[in-house]
Amino acid sequence: MQNDSKKLYSKGMKKVENKYDLIVFGSLNMDYVGYVDKLPEPGETVASNSFNIGPGGKAANQVITAAKLTATTAMVGRVGDDHIGTVMKNELAQAGVDDENVLISPGIQTGIAMVSVDQSGNNSIVTYKGANAILTEEDVTHSLDKMKRAEGVVLQLEMDKQVGEYTIQMASDLGKKIILNLAPIVDIDSEVLKLVDLLIVNEPESSFLSGMDVNSVDSAKEAVEIISKIGIDNIVITLGGEGAVFKTGDIIKHYPASKVNVVDTTGAGDCFVGAVSFFWIRSGDLDISVKNAVNVAALSVTKQGAITSLPSLAEYEQFID
Ligand code: ATP
Repeated sequence: MQNDSKKLYSKGMKKVENKYDLIVFGSLNMDYVGYVDKLPEPGETVASNSFNIGPGGKAANQVITAAKLTATTAMVGRVGDDHIGTVMKNELAQAGVDDENVLISPGIQTGIAMVSVDQSGNNSIVTYKGANAILTEEDVTHSLDKMKRAEGVVLQLEMDKQVGEYTIQMASDLGKKIILNLAPIVDIDSEVLKLVDLLIVNEPESSFLSGMDVNSVDSAKEAVEIISKIGIDNIVITLGGEGAVFKTGDIIKHYPASKVNVVDTTGAGDCFVGAVSFFWIRSGDLDISVKNAVNVAALSVTKQGAITSLPSLAEYEQFID
């Protein structure tokens, strides 16, 4: 691990003036997290042992992951004109993310997520999109200058489907590296999907795309073959504690995650996306980027919360030392 990281960092982790490594489009939510002995069944009420309120949302988690790893970043999204919206924007600013294009929507609530986490760190989540749902194509166009100055464009689909497709098309027209985390599952136009340079999905999302049940390393290896027929060169399937399977060209590899003391897996997938995007943009080497991202995400599950659990580059380096 250590040699690989050195190789990664020696490739010039330089920040370029007036440029962004990544611009991230999508959702910001406040997470209300109850820690329970077991997740509730339908109709069941479960008392939580402890409770946390913390910033999250897929895009916010991903952009802050990258920023904490020293990426220069900008975000495009929407919050409401409420207290939560102010907290979310402050969180981005504190992490050094350019939040100018995180717009404030009057009279609308900022997105929220109601999360339950069990003793094994597994979660179940109910979200309310709020202001995330009214991100428009005009908002995306409005970020054109920043998109032009970014090396990579990252998005997920906690937004209107057409807006997601529009973002991918615009990034492709600009010749940007496009990283799509197809979460939640949205049936986007396959012609648009082909424009993506790196597709990242988890087990249920890859099951949806491949039409087979993905629940193991072997099934993920089969699924990446099927999904690649869409016409995408680079695909990662994340597999929780099993790490990730990825396909690049004709090569399929599995990188296991480090064995860690699992506290809370909330945001682990987003942490992976932010980390792999950052390492790929800075190093140009996807193989080594996936290997590193699997372990950045493994480190994140050792702490509670989504954004609160994201490691800095220094913490990650210490972890793999
Ligand atoms: P979430 O929705 O909770 O953010 P996800 O389903 O999108 O998660 P996962 O596949 O569960 O994403 O996890 C992403 C990455 O996080 C994995 O590839 C792995 O690197 C790390 N990870 C998750 N769970 C564990 C675990 N139990 N032990 C070690 N690493 C883990």
